[in-house]
Amino acid sequence: MAISDKARRFEESVIRKMTQICLQHQGINLAQGFPDFGTPPEIADAAIRAIRDGHNQYARTWGTPNLVAALAEKLREFNRIEIDPNTQVTVTCGTTEAMIAALLATVNPGDEVIVFSPFYENYGADAILCGARPRYVHLRPTPEGGFELDPDELADAFNERTRAIIVNTPHNPAGKVFTRDDMTLIAELCRRYDALAITDEIYEHILYDGREHVSIATLPGMASRTITISGLSKTYSVTGWRVAWAVASPEITGAIRKVHDFLTVGAPHPFQEAGAAALRMPAAYYEQLARDYARRRELLHTALQETGFPCTQPEGSYYILADISPFAREDEDDTEFALRLVKEAGVATVPGSSFYDPPTLGHHQIRFAFCKKDETIQAAGRRLLEWSSKHR
Ligand code: GLN
Repeated sequence: MAISDKARRFEESVIRKMTQICLQHQGINLAQGFPDFGTPPEIADAAIRAIRDGHNQYARTWGTPNLVAALAEKLREFNRIEIDPNTQVTVTCGTTEAMIAALLATVNPGDEVIVFSPFYENYGADAILCGARPRYVHLRPTPEGGFELDPDELADAFNERTRAIIVNTPHNPAGKVFTRDDMTLIAELCRRYDALAITDEIYEHILYDGREHVSIATLPGMASRTITISGLSKTYSVTGWRVAWAVASPEITGAIRKVHDFLTVGAPHPFQEAGAAALRMPAAYYEQLARDYARRRELLHTALQETGFPCTQPEGSYYILADISPFAREDEDDTEFALRLVKEAGVATVPGSSFYDPPTLGHHQIRFAFCKKDETIQAAGRRLLEWSSKHR
């Protein structure tokens, strides 16, 4: 059979599959994390202008001068990371490409890569594609409904085969924002075991209750051993533009650029130009973004509470993991439940098992995304409430 061993070892994305199932049932899509509202008009206009101005051929493979310059400013002001934009940036097609390019550039087959579980499902497939052995470390649920690191379990996971740790903060799907203490511990272990930190900071601007976003590259000794990944998708509501970046030392960047060039040649040129405009948005934009997400978080959380799904509010990102126990039938797992929910209630979610290793740890959970218009969240809330009154 003409299927590779690697391709056999992972499945199609459950997140994206749920979007297709949602369409079949004309459901409300709280499964896949993409906004159903528009990007700010000035950012959209910048993209249209870029197309009209003729930025329609390949861009410089590793990123247009305009975008990397804007990115260096943004990294300095927001993340407190100082870089040389000419030698330390690779602009990629989404953080999805940034992550796989970073891993392919730095990890050898058989190396171990530490991943916190629950985790964004791409990291599992990424590890297989680059031949790494993923080593899962559990984020422990706290009595308050959050997630915390177990320092001993984390320290035990590091060894001489550890090549890298993937750190996603704010976290999808757990909503955890890694604290400075968490980051300090991770950094210490990275230094001790000569390991890389590969971050996914795509939700860096979606934080609640005054929480702080800490980029691990800013901690002592970490600049040379961190690959900082983020992108336009979530901050500017442009998930379809596919523009993101990996920032690292010149040496690591050289390797990432080679991999990136042969994977995709480059990210869409006009959207890179628009990205430069986006990154120069004033502070008020980010304050409004945070306020809007705080309101949406409240709307979804209230709706889930009224319906009777036990859950807590995330510290960052735009997902809520909810407990299905009050509604799940005997022997019904999260996948069966999510399929029933989209059919019966017309609300699509993602089964929790797709985020855990072992998957059974997520059998009592589903993930709701709230990067949606207020009316979408409210309509989903009404559907869930009506459904729950019949199925409790
Ligand atoms: N990050 C988003 C999610 O978790 C979208 C994933 C995707 O489909 N690329 O839903």
